[in-house]
Amino acid sequence: MDRGATHFTHWFQPQTGSTAEKHDAFLSLKSNFSPNGEEVTAIDAFSGSQLLQAEPDASSFPSGGMRTTFEARGYTVWDTTSPMFIQEGPHGTSVLYIPSVFISYNGDALDEKTVLLRSTSAISKACSELLNLIDPVPVGAQPKVSHVYTTLGTEQEYFLIDRSLYSLRPDLKHTGRTLVGNLPPKHQQMDDHYFGRVPSKVMATMSEAELELFRLGVPIKTRHNEVAPQQFECAPIFEEASLAVDHNLLTMDVLHKVAHKNKLKVLFHEKPFKGVNGSGKHCNWSMSTDRGENLLDPTVKPETNYRFMLVLVSVLHAVQQYSGLLRTSIASSSNEHRLGACEAPPMIISAFLGEHLTEVLNSVEEGRPIKNFSVPEIQSIKLGGTVLDVKVASLPSITRDLTDRNRTSPFAFTGNKFEFRAVGSKQSPAFPVTILNAAVASAIQDVTAALREQMGDKPYPSDADKVAVIKKFIGSSKAVRFEGDGYSDAWIHEAERRGLPNIKTSPEAFEQLLNPHHSNMLTKLGIFTQSELQSRHMILQERYAKDILVEANTLSTLLSSQILPSVFEYRGSLAQNVNALKEISADDAAPELATLKALTPAVKDLQAAIAKLDKTIHDMHQVGDDAVAEAKFACAHVLPAINVARAAADKLEILTADKYYPIPHYSELLWF
Ligand code: ADP
Ligand code: MG
Repeated sequence: MDRGATHFTHWFQPQTGSTAEKHDAFLSLKSNFSPNGEEVTAIDAFSGSQLLQAEPDASSFPSGGMRTTFEARGYTVWDTTSPMFIQEGPHGTSVLYIPSVFISYNGDALDEKTVLLRSTSAISKACSELLNLIDPVPVGAQPKVSHVYTTLGTEQEYFLIDRSLYSLRPDLKHTGRTLVGNLPPKHQQMDDHYFGRVPSKVMATMSEAELELFRLGVPIKTRHNEVAPQQFECAPIFEEASLAVDHNLLTMDVLHKVAHKNKLKVLFHEKPFKGVNGSGKHCNWSMSTDRGENLLDPTVKPETNYRFMLVLVSVLHAVQQYSGLLRTSIASSSNEHRLGACEAPPMIISAFLGEHLTEVLNSVEEGRPIKNFSVPEIQSIKLGGTVLDVKVASLPSITRDLTDRNRTSPFAFTGNKFEFRAVGSKQSPAFPVTILNAAVASAIQDVTAALREQMGDKPYPSDADKVAVIKKFIGSSKAVRFEGDGYSDAWIHEAERRGLPNIKTSPEAFEQLLNPHHSNMLTKLGIFTQSELQSRHMILQERYAKDILVEANTLSTLLSSQILPSVFEYRGSLAQNVNALKEISADDAAPELATLKALTPAVKDLQAAIAKLDKTIHDMHQVGDDAVAEAKFACAHVLPAINVARAAADKLEILTADKYYPIPHYSELLWF
């Protein structure tokens, strides 16, 4: 209250993709009874139990059939690992936010946070055990590592467009993406937007958002223009994973609010505009001990840093074992438009290590000495004295990052962390990180078990034991390592040859969750119960089907009630002109007539496409109350109908006089 808080709220993350809050004032009424009657006074009150727990009516949050309405109770419980914060509201009312988990009456996770916290403790347990085995302590002493946490830094991409233009686009408003529209002649071909000067309106929004985020404890560090026109990115300094998730959600929220205030609209959809790059959320991920040591730091000589090598092969083993599940964690109707579209990592999950680590792993596997990477010629690029013998003495020589960049990999080692790049810009990072943590925790258990088997009766593994286990997992995880161009067709064939899953559609990806190999791992580690998995599967399928249905309905209405009538108006004016001009001569009327005639087949095509779209929407309603069948139907039939209708509309956009076209064009939306 000293800081102006008048209300409090439990702030939680239901499975809707956003956060939820319900505010309560610190207000209570107190009655005093006296002979003169009852006197009521207002007092500020806030009890310990209100801090710890709340019971919102949870019946309207997705539960995937886990709760029926009559037992709809859900509880929010204070997550003490994430600091509270205060957000200012209007009229001097500020709200105290209490980060919370959201569980059902029976303790089932109804949210993203509970499972994330479970996954971080699974990783902590598995990893501490491995570290204490390879780095033993004297009998009776405290274990050296008692806790391992995962670290996360989320690079957030987004578009900023003019808010008044946005409000004229029902497709953007209802679905987050444009359902019609052609590219302007100049868009991102020149690569002149990427890292360009940030437009002043955008800079104003970015700076204000950053300041507000600093006040909330979110350490935003980086900002820049991205590839597509009006696409931008920001990134914080990494933090403990569950806190980083909270902070990413806050970042999105604050960007949304500040953009609105500055008459802009922020778009977090993965593919708001067809034909230019979409947005992702790179999840930079690593593990750290309670002493702050980054377990993925290769140090100077990774080949003899057995701790690093064991952790590295564990991560590779995790990707190899659970690539299908990692694919599930990033699946959504919106991310489907971006993944594999030659601008984002493909649907095949592989891991990139870079030249140096690849050589390290190859040398261990082949039992030969490592090529010397420490020689100065390789580590530094000399800028003074190069080809053509031009001396550029004023430039210092630079150190070459030994993990060179490969932008086409969905899961790339970047120096001292992995970067999960296939995550969607719109989605909460909670689920992908939960799955990644789970997969790695399980893989570390496998590696630890192999180490115990290898060392036999010895109390601790020898270096030779460690090398043997490292070698074993280098061999078994080899198929997921790919250093080449992930966008190429050759990789699709190569991945198929290697037996890597290439799961193209989201409904198929969601099914991976119930595949026994995956569900057994998740339940064994205590991250999900079987019923939580079933519920989550259902929620994902339902959301996918609904997303596409909303798109179909939005498009159908837009086409029938705005685009088609405007084209009719244009045709009407052309027809009138033709009639008037015919009075002069047929020859004079010919140009307008030709334009009118060119429109006719395109209009007919659009009408047919709308009819087909409406029929598909109708058919989808007949599928029955089965989320999986609906999602499959939406994917197989509704999406193609949307695409056909769009193609017809986009053709008409070109043929219709600008003054009749009812909604802003890409050329207006994509430039300030
Ligand atoms: P780039 O665009 O080159 O990938 P950025 O600086 O935009 O780099 O983003 C890198 C992100 O990785 C930042 O959020 C940074 O804090 C984060 N990061 C760095 N080290 C770690 C680590 N050990 N664990 C998790 N995230 C990390
Ligand atoms: Mg990055």
